Amino acid sequence: MKDFGLESWGDDNFLIREGQLALNYADRPSLLEITRQIRERGYKGPLLLRFPHLIDKQISTLFDAFYSAMKTFEYEGGFRAVFPLKVNQYPNFIHALMQVAAPYGYGLEAGSKAELIIAMSETPIGAPITVNGFKDREMIALCFIAAKMGHDITVTIEGLGELQTIIEVHQEFNQGNDPSIAPKIGTRIRLHSSGIGTWAKSGGYSSKFGLTSTELLEAFELMQQNDILGQFSMVHFHIGSQMSDIAPLKKALREAGNIYADLKKRGASALTAINIGGGLAVEYSQHSHTQDRNYSLKEFANDVVYLMQEIAKSKGVESPDIFTESGRYIAASHSVLVAPVLELFSQEYHEKSLRPKESNPPLIEELYDLIGTINRNNAREYLHDALDHMESLLTLFDLGYIDLEDRSNTEILVNLIIKKAILLLKNEDTDELKRLQNRIQEKYLVNFSAFESLPDFWGLSQHFPVMPLDRLDTKPSRPASLWDITCDSDGEIGFDPNLPLYLHDIDVTKDEYFLAFFLTGAYQEVLGMKHNLFTHPTEVVVSFDEAGKMHLDQLIEAQNLMDILDDLDYDTGKIDKSLKQKIEASSFINEEEKKILLGKLYLYLSENSYLKTIQASREIREINK
Ligand SMILES: *Cc1c(COP(=O)(O)O)cnc(C)c1O
Repeated sequence: MKDFGLESWGDDNFLIREGQLALNYADRPSLLEITRQIRERGYKGPLLLRFPHLIDKQISTLFDAFYSAMKTFEYEGGFRAVFPLKVNQYPNFIHALMQVAAPYGYGLEAGSKAELIIAMSETPIGAPITVNGFKDREMIALCFIAAKMGHDITVTIEGLGELQTIIEVHQEFNQGNDPSIAPKIGTRIRLHSSGIGTWAKSGGYSSKFGLTSTELLEAFELMQQNDILGQFSMVHFHIGSQMSDIAPLKKALREAGNIYADLKKRGASALTAINIGGGLAVEYSQHSHTQDRNYSLKEFANDVVYLMQEIAKSKGVESPDIFTESGRYIAASHSVLVAPVLELFSQEYHEKSLRPKESNPPLIEELYDLIGTINRNNAREYLHDALDHMESLLTLFDLGYIDLEDRSNTEILVNLIIKKAILLLKNEDTDELKRLQNRIQEKYLVNFSAFESLPDFWGLSQHFPVMPLDRLDTKPSRPASLWDITCDSDGEIGFDPNLPLYLHDIDVTKDEYFLAFFLTGAYQEVLGMKHNLFTHPTEVVVSFDEAGKMHLDQLIEAQNLMDILDDLDYDTGKIDKSLKQKIEASSFINEEEKKILLGKLYLYLSENSYLKTIQASREIREINK
């Protein structure tokens, strides 16, 4: 796996050039070079790189796929898309998104009041806004304000109560107005088909969202009676994120298509759109034998367009405009988290750490013997002997017959024998060897927080592709597990013999080694949690001008220590005072030293909580022991 599965998850966004991972764009700068340029400005710790050209690529690929499907099937309806804000609301992302999206008339989807405010201010007039999720009277009133601003806004009702509120707010906002201005109305429908995969809960009868057929009929009649059927323009469904399989979507499309046709026949003449929600999956897999989705974007678009056409034709109604709310697909690839490796944790198993004695216990002598004579032919046998000796030696230790030095020698020697045996037997792919890799795995301490930057790994075991930024012309040999710097054992991406990650053997006291995590642009940022008070990493927008020149802009530094505490509603003035008083009142130090300590303290307070040096990581390890 020298290319770390780039073929399967990379989507041609990156390439390996002269041993380094490079952007497959403009003059192909290496990610290491970009990282160094930012670090030279003094920003250490993890970095979040945003690439607007990758947002552009996803949007244009999505639109192109649907336009081309529509052409193929001579589809008469239109195609429109919105970005669901819950997937990433960060301003550096949203601003880049809206900039590259302008030519497509791409809009935003909001699921809360705060998101609605972002949508109302960032969406250009003419591009659609959709509003989903549970709403109160104020939120619906905000939608009316948006409509009066001139926005093309659709409120999707999740229940009959919301429709009732819309009717009331409508009266309040349009007393005597002619024509009255109001948002369009959509209905989220509760399908009997549900999605598949981790996020399938969003669809199906027991889903949190949507109207049953009975409620839908009631809603229709309520709109009729209150003379607002003219606003009813969209049916909406969403069967869950990261659909691994296309089959459930097809079922859902048939169901929704028939609901659409039925409502139209019933007299919903303003109904012109079907919103198919999100769910378009991203390929996260780093290994060729696993796959996160069984369909291509082309197949997805073709299926949607073809099925809508079929149903509309057979029912004799006009083809609906197709709306999508794909979020993960648009946002995931645009950001890359780069984090420095601070330390490797198996240096203790080095030959130079052995402490041979004048006279070693016989079994240890035998281990020395095994390591001296192991070869391809005897490797398996010697390996088993070594493991056997280890068991016996550990028992001898428990019984008090050998001492700590003997035990340390045992661990080192057996470890070295396992490593050698694995190397000699590397062409055999047995379960035993896979299991043994677990024992010789190297722990890489990485300067990031999995809780903050990969929350779906922590909460849902979602895998994110990871690879080093350089040395890619050398085969990595170390089975690796990754530790983040939180004091929480869940902050570990363990070595998985079935989906192994191998990294390079490096000496971090001499060389830098950076790991990059990919496809982190969807959901991870705002779901990230400040466990141990590690915050959002320093972020930079990496863009290219017309001439292809690279720009590193909109840098937002990770929060400093006092701001973090301020966020938790600590009175930072009090903290400041307390720290100062304690230094000043201390009887351990003289006046001169007090000044120096205060200076240092304030310097540290102005920095963020990620680690800066290898030394610091050693201290952390001592504390955690
Ligand atoms: C979350 C959500 C989406 C986005 O789903 P993705 O899988 O990220 O594309 C779209 N629509 C609705 C209603 C959602 O709740």
